[in-house]
Formats: sequence, structure tokens, C-alpha cells
Amino acid sequence: MSDETRGKLRRTTTVGELRLAVAAARSEGKSVGLVPTMGALHQGHLSLVEASVAQCGFTVVTIFVNPAQFGPDEDLARYPCTLEADLDALARCGADVAFVPAAEEIYPAGHATGVELGGVAEPLEGQHRAGHFAGVATVVLKLFNMAGADVAYFGRKDYQQMQVVKQMVADLNVPITICECPTVREPDGLAMSSRNKYLAGDARQRALVLWKSLCLARRAVAQGQRDGETILRQMREVIRSAEGAVIDYAALVDPETLAGVARVEQPTLAVLAVKIDETRLIDNCLLEPPLE
Ligand code: AMP
Repeated sequence: MSDETRGKLRRTTTVGELRLAVAAARSEGKSVGLVPTMGALHQGHLSLVEASVAQCGFTVVTIFVNPAQFGPDEDLARYPCTLEADLDALARCGADVAFVPAAEEIYPAGHATGVELGGVAEPLEGQHRAGHFAGVATVVLKLFNMAGADVAYFGRKDYQQMQVVKQMVADLNVPITICECPTVREPDGLAMSSRNKYLAGDARQRALVLWKSLCLARRAVAQGQRDGETILRQMREVIRSAEGAVIDYAALVDPETLAGVARVEQPTLAVLAVKIDETRLIDNCLLEPPLE
């Protein structure tokens, strides 16, 4: 028996069980919300779950560390797993189903079909993590098809991923609404991430340079700076002030297309990928020049 109940929360491991649970909720007239995650849940994830519970009659949270979105040199083997605590947290938030499939349930032997992406998947992460978004989009589309939800919740923390999913949904006419949720931060500004667990010793403190550089960009724009290169130079200086910080990219982009922006005359997204020692962190924030 793979089902387990924790309060109202039911843990399922097969697509068949998931579909039955969703069908039962639908027969009661409930709308269905879906929150895809890779587990090691923190308040950033839980804010998505809370939004779904507030807006939908039935909330499905998936916990699946998707091998297809990790490169050969990435952290799949050591990705944090805190399943018992995750299930407790989901029960407390009022989620209805935790779908925790094994890899074979998602990728049975012979699985050979995937989503091919262009457009917003190409720059930034697309340049630095070959195949990453194809792996994300394929598993997300599979989860959409498995759960048959009305609404799926994504965090702006992974802004490009959210745009990739929105583009896929539009291009492939997937019948689901994407709900964007704000980035949840630690009190000192560090964006919550499962990978923050890797930040040992003073690396946690040094990781604050991401948020500091985004704040600096915001201040510069508020004070009238519009030149993209000037803003980026200042951001890079802040990041490089931390020992062990290596920039994968720091860019100013159009929030819809993710194309590079030379001057910040419109709302512009500042996006960062930075390694602190061995830990790769991403973050972003919107720069909004005051209307003249
Ligand atoms: P992950 O488990 O990293 O795949 O993330 C699952 C979902 O949680 C994605 O939609 C992320 O964007 C979202 N998420 C992760 N961290 C945060 C955060 N700090 N604030 C808001 N959403 C987040």
C-alpha cells in the first residue's frame, strides 16, 4: 500500500492514485491547484502551497527530484531530501495530496519523448545549463497531464523557468492557468532555496552579495541611472567583493522576452547566477524606473 495519510494530506506514489484522488475532488465540484517541487521544502515553496489552498478547493503538491533537468556535473546525487519534514509541512499548510513518485513512474523504461523549446528558454540559464529547461518543461508538462489541474503555481525566484512554462502552456495550448508567486526571502534578503543548505560556514554570509547587488541596482535606477552597463558594472563589483563568488551571468533583461536591455527606461529584470564556492545560486528583481 503506497498511500499514507497525515491529517487530511494523502501521499500517493502512482499516477493512477493521483488521478483517482483528483477525480474524486472534481466530482465534489472542487477546483484543483498544482504545486510542482523538488522537495526540501522551505517557506518559498510553502507560500505557493498556501496560495493554492487559498484559491483552489483541492491542492496537489508534487515532490520529484527530476534527473532530466540536472547536467552530468550538477548536484543531482547530493540534492537535499527532507521528505518526512516536507510531508508534515504540507499537512500543516492544508495540502490535500503529496504526489511523491519514483523515477520509474515518471520515466518508465523506453521513455523517449520530450518538449523542444526556443524563445525565452534560450538566453541566461539556457546558455549555462544545456538541456536543463528541456528537462524542466518535459516533466512539468507530464505533471500537468497527470494531475489535470486548473491552476499551477510557480515562484518568481526561478523567473526564467516560470517564463518557459508560460511559453510552453501558450504554444502547446495546455489547458491550465499559471499563477506567479513572489520570491520569499530570509530576513536578511537571501532568496530562500533548497540549495542554501549547501552554504557551509561563512558562505551563507557571503551569499548575501546577490541580494546586495540587486538592491544596489534598484537604488541606482531610483536615483536616475539608466545605463545598463554602468549598473551591471556596479553589480559585478559588489558580487566580486565576496571571496569565492564567481559570476555565471549578471544581466538586465526585458521581463517578458528576456532579451538583453541596454537602457533601463521600462520595467527591467535584473537576473543573476553566481557560484559561492561550489554552490550555484540564482536570484532576480524587477527594476522599475519611476514614470517621468
Ligand atoms: P524547486 O523545488 O526548487 O523546483 O521549486 C519549486 C517551486 O518553488 C518553483 O516554482 C520555484 O520557483 C518555487 N520557489 C523556490 N524558491 C522560492 C522562493 N524563495 N520564493 C518563491 N518561490 C520559490
